[in-house]
Parts: sequence; C-alpha cells; structure tokens
Amino acid sequence: MSRLLEVKNLSKFYTSKQGFFGAKSETVKAVNRITFHIDEQETLGIVGESGCGKSTTGRAVLRLHEPTEGEILYRGKDLCGLSLEEMKPYRQKMQIVFQNANSALDPRWTVEQSLVEPIRLHNPEIGRQELDQRIDRLMEEVGFAPMYKKKYPHEFSGGQRQRIGIAKAISVSPEFVVCDEPVSALDVSVQAQVLNLMKKLQRERKLSYMFISHDLSVIRFISDRVGVMYAGRLVEVAETKEFFENALHPYSRVLMAAVPKPVVMDDKDELYRGIGTIAKASKEGCPFCSRCAQADGRCRAEMPEQREVTPGHFVSCHLYD
Ligand code: ADP
Ligand code: MG
Repeated sequence: MSRLLEVKNLSKFYTSKQGFFGAKSETVKAVNRITFHIDEQETLGIVGESGCGKSTTGRAVLRLHEPTEGEILYRGKDLCGLSLEEMKPYRQKMQIVFQNANSALDPRWTVEQSLVEPIRLHNPEIGRQELDQRIDRLMEEVGFAPMYKKKYPHEFSGGQRQRIGIAKAISVSPEFVVCDEPVSALDVSVQAQVLNLMKKLQRERKLSYMFISHDLSVIRFISDRVGVMYAGRLVEVAETKEFFENALHPYSRVLMAAVPKPVVMDDKDELYRGIGTIAKASKEGCPFCSRCAQADGRCRAEMPEQREVTPGHFVSCHLYD
C-alpha cells in the first residue's frame, strides 16, 4: 500500500475576540502540531471527546479551514501553498461526509438535483444521458432503486439521508473521504447498515477514509489504525488490534475504561476533571497532565514528543521515554 496523505505538524488556531470592541482576544489551539499519515485504501479512525479538535483536523486537511501551520502532503504534493485553481483537482479527490446529511443536501432540491451539482462542477463536459446513468448507478450503490432520486431529503429517514449524503460525496469519484461522525446521529441498528455500506464502498472504490468518531466501538469496527486526540494533540496512533490490546497513553486507557459503562460526566469524577476547559489546556507540559493519575513534575513542565514505541505504535507520553 502506498502513502496517500502525509500530515506534518498541522496546527489550526482560532482567535476569538472578547470584551468591549474585542479588546481581549483569546487563541484556541484547536489542533496543535499533529503528525500522521493515511495509506491508500486505509481507514484511519480519529477518536477523542467532544471539543478535542477532530472536526477541525478533518476540515484543515481538506483546507476547508485554512491551517495555521504545517504540511499536508497528498501523494507527495503539499496542498498548503496551492491556489484555488491549483486546489481544484484535489477538491474532487478529497471529499467529506458530515454527521448530519442536511449539511450536504439542500431541502428544496430533489436527490437528483443534489447529485447533479458536484458531478457537473467537476465534469462540465458530461452529457445528459451519461449523467442520468451515473446518478442511477450511484443510487444503486448506496442501496436505492433509481426512482428514489426524484424524492426530497425530508422524505427519507435519517439513515437513508446519510446514504444519500455518502452518494453525493462519492459522486465525483474521490480517493479520500473525511467522514466526520457520519453515524453518530443514527440509531445503533442503522449505524451498522451505514458502516457496512461504507466498508463496501471502500472495497469497491478503493477509498481511503479519515473516520472521525467519539465512539470507540464504531472506531474499532471501521478502522485499520486508530489515532487518539486530546486537547488538540494526537496523543497515540497504532494499528487497531494493537491499540485495543495494548493502549499506552493514560488518556486512551481512560477512554477504553469508559466504554462498557455509560459515561457520566460528573465534575467530581477524577477521570473527567477538567472537561470543557481542555482546548485551553496548559501551555507547557502534557495537555493531559491535570487529569492523569501518573503525572509528575516533568509532565507539567514539558510537552512529550511523539515517539514510536514499537513499530507503527506512536505515543506522546513521558511514561514511554
Ligand atoms: P471536535 O470535533 O473534536 O468536537 P472541534 O474540532 O469541533 O472538536 O473543536 C475543537 C476546538 O476548537 C473547540 O474548543 C472548539 O470550541 C474550537 N473551535 C472549533 N471551531 C471553531 C471556530 N470556527 N472558531 C473558534 N473556535 C472554534
Ligand atoms: Mg466534531
């Protein structure tokens, strides 16, 4: 398998103005110097609690939100320096599926109209007959009879609408799809259908996915490798089997311990201390140190670098220096 995407030291900072006339400004380091890669036909799962920077990472990789710094190498080509015109072919090759398909589908348009738009945009020369055939084929690929293309988004259930959202993303034959919590709004039984569909499409169309979810069981099902984010940092990356058998970072272990029981967000709970303030995590030191049972003076003073502990298993934690 060859390298499709290589992301090096990617950061995205947001500056928000506060106070009268924006007198005070505050910088949120939503994504802070993260490094990872995705190979052809591979799924990298990105997991972490709400607000840790998953969506920002997905959008920054696509340059939907302009990165603050870093490199995004797509088949070796750095996307960050490209002009709008130069980005065009990559806009086709790199697509996104959102949590809510309504973000991708105009309620006033039939499914057919929604699907025509991106195909026409990237293939202006295509004729009506070929366009019709392509849309019918797309409908079948995501499990609908072609006649369903005449319906409007509100006529579909949540899971069906998400399948249409997926059809739109693949309509322009991408190689890489950022999937940002695509099943998080769906019932568990419907989640499985949509995940299976995504796996099938990946096989048939040789897609690579960056699959974002806060749900470890979803991540385990879909991913070849898993990346864990915490407060804008990528704290651990490993192959899925290795990760679930041998997670190293204290935060990864907290995440796993939270799986079998319902996660109760209790302020008094040691594990969840500091939730909600994580994006403002301490400037120096490990972002997790205030919640980590094993943190010592060094963890509070010095940010751990990413280290490859065993082949392919990366962790940013002083415990493994
Ligand atoms: P996740 O997807 O993991 O829930 P996000 O990437 O959406 O997290 O957000 C990461 C952090 O960046 C949060 O603290 C969020 O409030 C902040 N953030 C996200 N988008 C913006 C924005 N457009 N402007 C300012 N802050 C933002
Ligand atoms: Mg998100």
